[in-house]
Amino acid sequence: MNPFIQLGIRHDIVNAITELGFENPTPIQEQSIPVLLTGSNDFVGLAQTGTGKTAAFGLPLLELLDFEENHPQALILCPTRELCLQITNDLKNYAKNMRSVHVVAVYGGASISDQLREIRRGVQIVVATPGRMLDIINRKAIDFSQVKFVVLDEADEMLNMGFQEDIDSILSTTPEEKKTWLFSATMPSEVRRIAKKYMTDPYELTMGTKNTGNENIEHEYYIIRARDKYAAFKRIVDFNPEIFGIVFCRTKIETQEIAEALIKDGYNADSLHGDLSQQQRDKVMKRYRERSLQLLIATDVAARGIDVNDVTHVINYSLPDEIENYTHRSGRTARAGKTGVSISIINGKELGKIRQIERTLGKRFVKMDIPTGFDVVEKQLFALVHKVHNVEVNEQQIEQYTSRIMDEFKDMSKEDIIKRFASLEFNRFLDYYKNAPDLNAPVDESRRDSSGERSFRTSGPSEFTRLFINLGSVDGFSRGDLLGYICNTSKISGRTVGKIDVKGVFSFFEVPNDEVGKVQEGFKGADFQGRDVRIEISGEGSSERREGGSGQRREGGNYSGGRREGGYSGGAGGRREGGYSRPEGGNRERTGSNAGGGFRDFSGKRREDRNTGGERRKRF
Ligand code: AMP
Repeated sequence: MNPFIQLGIRHDIVNAITELGFENPTPIQEQSIPVLLTGSNDFVGLAQTGTGKTAAFGLPLLELLDFEENHPQALILCPTRELCLQITNDLKNYAKNMRSVHVVAVYGGASISDQLREIRRGVQIVVATPGRMLDIINRKAIDFSQVKFVVLDEADEMLNMGFQEDIDSILSTTPEEKKTWLFSATMPSEVRRIAKKYMTDPYELTMGTKNTGNENIEHEYYIIRARDKYAAFKRIVDFNPEIFGIVFCRTKIETQEIAEALIKDGYNADSLHGDLSQQQRDKVMKRYRERSLQLLIATDVAARGIDVNDVTHVINYSLPDEIENYTHRSGRTARAGKTGVSISIINGKELGKIRQIERTLGKRFVKMDIPTGFDVVEKQLFALVHKVHNVEVNEQQIEQYTSRIMDEFKDMSKEDIIKRFASLEFNRFLDYYKNAPDLNAPVDESRRDSSGERSFRTSGPSEFTRLFINLGSVDGFSRGDLLGYICNTSKISGRTVGKIDVKGVFSFFEVPNDEVGKVQEGFKGADFQGRDVRIEISGEGSSERREGGSGQRREGGNYSGGRREGGYSGGAGGRREGGYSRPEGGNRERTGSNAGGGFRDFSGKRREDRNTGGERRKRF
């Protein structure tokens, strides 16, 4: 039997939600639907966005209301227009096989007369933002005397936005005996207070532990110098060619500036903030939903209620002033069972805030290193290679050109042609990143907060030295191969070798400081298939504690390639040209549409960090 039927939902509705792809109830639906269907409880649900909240209250409402009667029976209050429209739309979808269900969306920034007309025609469910709702109540244009259920959705955010008084006034027009269902992603004391004020002995349901974010979200942070923020941010984006992300800034100005800079630099980005007209906001959201935008730069308030599935990353370009907002922000990713990453780009002074959020969420954040220019180039190259590999060929259309194309390439080997296609865009990246500096700021671990909790590796002199070797995956080395090769050549024990990082034409490996001499000695005069093998101290120390500026040398100097012979392990042979030829420079163009990853124009200039601050209440 369909699990929703088992929960007590009627066939008409189950058929409709099956079409929407709801096969099994989400945990919050499973637990709240049976309780709400009794219609006899007040209810508090502590749940993140994206967990299926709308159906959790929406399906019971459709079961409980009497649609033969044409007057308001349920009122759903929510903080933003987007959420209001989305809830309305969802309810209409669930009810599409039911007769005489009338749902109206009431929100600011749109014609009030249209909304009044809809209300006059008769509605049972009103979904509203508080400001406009109050306006309509004050015009005596609606009668809530027969309301049976009030839903306060995203209650914490409504309070954050200062709707407390409006909510009080609206609720005073509804009957005493109605039931109130409150949903909130977080439970600050303000929400506790309104729960107490409006409800009697509510049934409480907490999904996950209190304030814990979605389990499917990984939290990462990068420590940079304030002046490198924009460059570091771009590098993170470039390192994730398939990113489909929301970038949070604290102020409208910052939002706009970052979006403009990104657009100038050839990214598919746009901003969403309160200064935009409703029409402009709709347009931006439409483009984002359709994925013609890859990055949406938003303020906290503007991004509330955005329900876009498949958001891969949330980036905190600036940390929010309130911890609760971090939960809201990160909840924009990992929706409907997917996974996602929430990234914070911080300076050393903000480490204490990260610790505070960690404690509130009960989750450990992982410190990441800003990828080197080389890392980005390599990642983008393979993203391009995969794209070429997987592209759908329109056989019919291309056929007419095939012989001319073949003719152009007739004197080239398959390898040459592949390299040329890859280089076409790859060169631009290489060009942009060839002298890219290390953007990781030195970490002062003493800047922890007062709890003294030390959950990450402490600094101090490393026992390991990181060595560079001019052999890599292009020579057929895997990590294991390289370990074997290093041990054989330098006669050190495999157990003493630390982290091995195999790159394309070179690699890094760590050995204990007191083994460095032995390794250097062992590799003296070594050659690999006729080529000199070079070992150098990379100058970075342990990868965990990179110090500023050290990354430059390896990025600038090591693309030299040269002629390489067949691989190390397989020895598949064949003459290989140096994998990554030096860029020819110039030839930059802007790519128009980059959704789903691609190469861009990298004229990127550095921008200053603009922490112009907001004016919100509870600060860290
Ligand atoms: P919500 O938390 O209500 O905004 O829902 C988040 C997303 O999950 C929306 O896109 C819903 O359509 C989707 N969703 C909700 N419930 C289910 C379900 N039982 N199965 C599959 N998807 C669902």
